Amino acid sequence: MTKKTYRDAQGYLRFVDSGKLVHRWKAERKIGRKLQLGEIVHHENKIKIDNRYSNLRIFNSRKAHQAYHIKRAWTRGRRSKTLKR
Ligand SMILES: [Zn+2]
Repeated sequence: MTKKTYRDAQGYLRFVDSGKLVHRWKAERKIGRKLQLGEIVHHENKIKIDNRYSNLRIFNSRKAHQAYHIKRAWTRGRRSKTLKR
């Protein structure tokens, strides 16, 4: 990637020129279309700046995303909770 990025206040990478979130941009490339409003891009390994395709997962709603987190918390125990967010 040649475009310049920076970390925003939430810890996500954004492009300097457009201010667009890098993981959302990448997710759009992964699925080959624009993300709809309300679609959530999740970082599989919880590392917000790891925007490899394999680390990005798209949910069609906030609810579906939340449900996934709850399910993961169950199956993986408390390990994920030791990380911030
Ligand atoms: Zn998530």
